[in-house]
Amino acid sequence: MGRFSFFCMSMLFVIMSFFSCKEDHAIAYDVILKNGNVIDLETGIVSVKDIFIKDGIIEKLVIPNDAEHIAATKVIDVTDQYILPGFWDNHVHFRGGDSLLKANRDFLKLYITNGITTVRDAGGDLTAAVMAWRDSIASGDLIGPTIFTSGPKIDGPNGTWAGSLEVTNKSDIAIALDSLQSLQVDFVKLYDSRITGENYLNTIKAAEERGLITSGHMPFTVTLDATISAGVDAVEHLYYIMKGCAANEAAITSQLVRKEIGFWDAMPLLMAGYTDSVAQKTFANLKNHDVYVVPTLHIGETLSYLDETNHQNDAYLKYMDTDIVKTYAGRIQRALNASEEQTRDRKALQQFFGVLTKSLHDSGVGLLAGSDSGAFNSYTYPGISLHKELEQLVKTGISPLEALKTSAYNGARFLKKDTDYGQLKANNIADIVILNGNPLDDISQTQNIRMVIKEGAVWEINNLNKQLESLANDNN
Ligand SMILES: [Zn+2]
Repeated sequence: MGRFSFFCMSMLFVIMSFFSCKEDHAIAYDVILKNGNVIDLETGIVSVKDIFIKDGIIEKLVIPNDAEHIAATKVIDVTDQYILPGFWDNHVHFRGGDSLLKANRDFLKLYITNGITTVRDAGGDLTAAVMAWRDSIASGDLIGPTIFTSGPKIDGPNGTWAGSLEVTNKSDIAIALDSLQSLQVDFVKLYDSRITGENYLNTIKAAEERGLITSGHMPFTVTLDATISAGVDAVEHLYYIMKGCAANEAAITSQLVRKEIGFWDAMPLLMAGYTDSVAQKTFANLKNHDVYVVPTLHIGETLSYLDETNHQNDAYLKYMDTDIVKTYAGRIQRALNASEEQTRDRKALQQFFGVLTKSLHDSGVGLLAGSDSGAFNSYTYPGISLHKELEQLVKTGISPLEALKTSAYNGARFLKKDTDYGQLKANNIADIVILNGNPLDDISQTQNIRMVIKEGAVWEINNLNKQLESLANDNN
């Protein structure tokens, strides 16, 4: 071998090792979002970044650098658009029996088209189907949000909701929790229609001893302090918080225990009993025990005004299966049957809940945005209702940033999923929503969606609209 050919061979070797070396280190990304305004939900800081996504995970966020050549399957220019974690609806229901299975499954599309990449299912009677959907969504066979579920609710005998687990003593409680644990539910949901105060508190204590996350309504026959002491992790709806803020809570509770008054009779009495010093103690107690509160203001507003709002032209009605719309009749009839006084009380209560929400927030109590959408909850449509809830939160005086935090950020923290979800940062799951406008200036911009990314899968707005159209056509 002459010197020249030896030189050539060496050069070739150097060049080859250079390329193979480069190949080793070059990562081909699935998606790069270029030049977007990334909203940091923790600080409220908006900064222009490129987001790199691979295998459904956010690999990194970096300051844009055009000189750097990067290989990616899809590079998407999102200049002047606003990027935040996919929304979480922290209170939804899948329910209504097997005849509504398809109708409930259709809700999954409504969540994704509204940028909701995770829902917290607060209990129903379709657990087996919900678990199957959850798995199909995870494997990419079904379009939908990540589902965290309580499975069936826990209540007393003959409770309001079909499929609930009935407890009447400590051994029932153990059996119910065993079954929920074998279902591998994400939290335990308690309901208050028939469960006794004692069994309610014992269920929370037993669940906490097993390390489970609990959330619930609260029977009016127990006090909020007792529920917090038992270890509840979240309180759904504000009735129970209001009860804990009333100076007359003990007296009203005794009346309820003696069955002299009922749940709705107690409401105006407790509202009148609201006392700031008691409320401040209650807020501090909630905060010190890390108890989250789910205000569900939008559904409260919707149900409080059923007597005067005409919903027949609601844009979302066309996406609802007619059998879902039939389930709306019960609450509508109850609203129409209510006395003038009851109707007035309900509206006053709704006003009061707005003020209460702001006070809770100001006291540092963690809030969760939840719509309570699902069958039977009249005109509280899956998807859009979460955005309406965010608007309601801002209407109370909470800042748009703080309202946004109550969705994905707090939702992930509450369910202890915040190592994977809730913020746009490296190693988190790539659940992302891209908006055309800045939601920090105007919360209604959360509805101005350009694109949704679910575990790295990109849904452009025209694809999302096609999904909506197909639902509308299905229901015609
Ligand atoms: Zn609910």
